[in-house]
Amino acid sequence: MEERDVELIVQSMNRLGLRITDQRKTIAQLFANATGFLSAKEVFLGMVDKYDGISFDTIYRNLRLLKELGVIEQFQIEDSYKYRVACFGHQHHHHHMICLSCNRVIPLESCPMDNFQAPDQFRIVKHRFEIYGYCDNCQQQGMGEDAETISA
Ligand SMILES: [Zn+2]
Ligand SMILES: [Zn+2]
Ligand SMILES: [Zn+2]
Repeated sequence: MEERDVELIVQSMNRLGLRITDQRKTIAQLFANATGFLSAKEVFLGMVDKYDGISFDTIYRNLRLLKELGVIEQFQIEDSYKYRVACFGHQHHHHHMICLSCNRVIPLESCPMDNFQAPDQFRIVKHRFEIYGYCDNCQQQGMGEDAETISA
């Protein structure tokens, strides 16, 4: 898939003024090769062979930095945080629909907060909003047919 191309990831790191170290190139490669999401632990396991003595902290710091710069995006999938390459062309604030079967991520153009008035003069500083379900492809393969609609 083009959007997972390692060169694109390195280019966007570069554009954001990030020093392209060998380690970061390897992180870009890991994300480029990943078919779905990667956990911090999976990134660590992908790095530890090549970089003897690299710490989990170093990995975590890099992931946080890449997230802050919008190179990767963080998702909460079944109670754990996972990462994937950010939706290129959607670098501004956006939300996602996530397929529970194939982990496909579809960016949403609109933010539900745009039309939301908080009661009690609550001053909102951040929000999270993700929709989980089954994509068209997976539905055609019969996935999610008996899934109940739940709110979490
Ligand atoms: Zn996105
Ligand atoms: Zn799917
Ligand atoms: Zn929003």
